[in-house]
Amino acid sequence: MNALPARDLAGFDVERVRADFPALSRLVHGKPLVYFDNANTAQRPRAVIDAVVEYYTEHNANVSRAVHTLGAEATALYEGARDRLARWINAGSRDEVVFTSGTTMATNLVAYAWAMPRLREGDAIVVTTMEHHANIVPWQLACERSGAKLKVWPITPEGELVEDALDRLLTPEVKLLALTHVSNALGTVNPVARIAAQARARGIPVLVDGSQALPHLAVDVQALGVDFYCFTGHKMFGPTGTGALWARREILESMPPFLGGGEMIRTVRFEGSTWADPPHRFEAGTPNIAGFIGLAAAVDYLAGLGIERIAARERDLLAHATARFLEVPGLRILGTAPGKAPVISFLVGGVHAHDLATLIDAEGIAVRSGHHCAHPLMQHYGVAATARASLAFYNTHAEIDRCAEALERARRMLA
Ligand code: PLP
Repeated sequence: MNALPARDLAGFDVERVRADFPALSRLVHGKPLVYFDNANTAQRPRAVIDAVVEYYTEHNANVSRAVHTLGAEATALYEGARDRLARWINAGSRDEVVFTSGTTMATNLVAYAWAMPRLREGDAIVVTTMEHHANIVPWQLACERSGAKLKVWPITPEGELVEDALDRLLTPEVKLLALTHVSNALGTVNPVARIAAQARARGIPVLVDGSQALPHLAVDVQALGVDFYCFTGHKMFGPTGTGALWARREILESMPPFLGGGEMIRTVRFEGSTWADPPHRFEAGTPNIAGFIGLAAAVDYLAGLGIERIAARERDLLAHATARFLEVPGLRILGTAPGKAPVISFLVGGVHAHDLATLIDAEGIAVRSGHHCAHPLMQHYGVAATARASLAFYNTHAEIDRCAEALERARRMLA
């Protein structure tokens, strides 16, 4: 066994960090849980759970409506979360951060409130082969309504974007380039700043799906030079039903509302209504107040660990997992881009991914199997599904070894 020392090279006290995550100490089928489904949803640290409980216990009230003490406390905590998130991604202003229920809501917001009013027949949107459905289907809906078309940026067999294809794709009819920062199924980290510069030189706006980037990388939306950045809270150790759309202020100001209701208006008359400024223009109704307070706690937690140390630790975990998994005869990894995030999509011989995942679940090991909401990517590789082990900083070499050994047993049983 190749157990990790308590304090590894990145200066990480793994056992202390693991103790912050209550779910990591539970048993599954009588065995200690090995949680390798972090790209699907991560576990929450006690600090996030406590922040949510404290809000409901001490401060529970609606936001932006009541002058009473609890209302003011809830509003301060909720708006404080916006400040926290804006600083974390280096937004130019807190007003550029629109709270959403996640990436899906953020991409749909842009599709309905930005793309649909602008797209005309003959226009195009470029997406990549490696996109999650949340960064494909909203654009298809926008295209269906407008007569615009999707164009697809291809990838190499290793799972990287074919860089010299971009010039050919960015023709004058392209009105948006929508791509993921980090692929959920392959782990590929796309060179977003370089790509955005190329698009900007042609006046083409860029939307980035940052769902899988925020848990692993330092993200500076201004330095990336993009126009829209979407992300989701539950993959970055925050509560479900949280996320955000960041967009430059002038873009948000140019967009009409997406959903109508309370909070998003300035005035309402039966003859017609006027809209609040961004971000509130896009936050109709009572939001997930507790969730965003929890998300701010998640950001504080990540900041406390240090995103560079997290990245260093995860590089080490990925290297170990790749080496150990490849010792399993017949195991093939899809997505081998250099510098990728700690995500390993794999197949073992002719064994179905669901069978593999089910067998190793019996040993307490959680990996995802399926299409990872990336049908076109699966089609590209000619497979229906893969098994995916996605790691986080709290995982260990010993867990990776347990998983590799369980995969080998499963292979022998199923082959
Ligand atoms: N984009 C990517 C790359 C993802 O991995 C996911 C979640 O799996 C999403 C978008 C959608 O996120 P959510 O379901 O939180 O909106």
